[in-house]
Amino acid sequence: MTETRIRNDIVTFAKSLFDRGYTAGSSGNISVKLDDGFLVTPTNSCLGFLDAHSLSRLDCDGKYQSGDEPTKELPLHFAMYAARPTARAVVHLHSSYATLLSCLDDTDPTSALAPITPYAVMRLGPVPMVPYTRPGSDTILPYIQAAAVDHPAVLLGNHGPVVSADSLEKAVFASEELEETAKLLVLAGERRLRLLGQTDIDDLNTTFRLRD
Ligand code: ZN
Repeated sequence: MTETRIRNDIVTFAKSLFDRGYTAGSSGNISVKLDDGFLVTPTNSCLGFLDAHSLSRLDCDGKYQSGDEPTKELPLHFAMYAARPTARAVVHLHSSYATLLSCLDDTDPTSALAPITPYAVMRLGPVPMVPYTRPGSDTILPYIQAAAVDHPAVLLGNHGPVVSADSLEKAVFASEELEETAKLLVLAGERRLRLLGQTDIDDLNTTFRLRD
């Protein structure tokens, strides 16, 4: 895939996420790993109004090359790529329901989303939650390293979700699945949920595994 196509895809997917309310204002950021560097959404940019030519271009070491200044949440993205060598894209949103789960005191840090539907299992698997750190701070690195090595999606405590995949499209779809699952869990409230059992989860993972 050419860099021009990837730039256009970032703009298209970002606008789609913004237009459907998956992240508001200038929140959220997206990166794609190229063969010779990275494309990253700029700092203070709105995902609904990106310009393909202004995306931040970084080299393989994360050094700035061209475009607007990159998101200040870069450490988060690089931590995901370091933990997941097969990752080619990282999507980070401040989507409402997942962010709410990240703020609740009783969210299970080993699996923030209960396994309620097959697609959440297939696209996400268990989603660990890491402790709050200041956005943009390097202190997130060891937490992501530990959590993401076995999991493509992580919830940042009091902040929001971050999802990696081996393509931008898959990272976006998994981000949407994460938010919709969080929404179902919040809507369920105190009602008793019938969770998928381990046998069903194992069957889904061997039959339809969609995550990298
Ligand atoms: Zn953020």
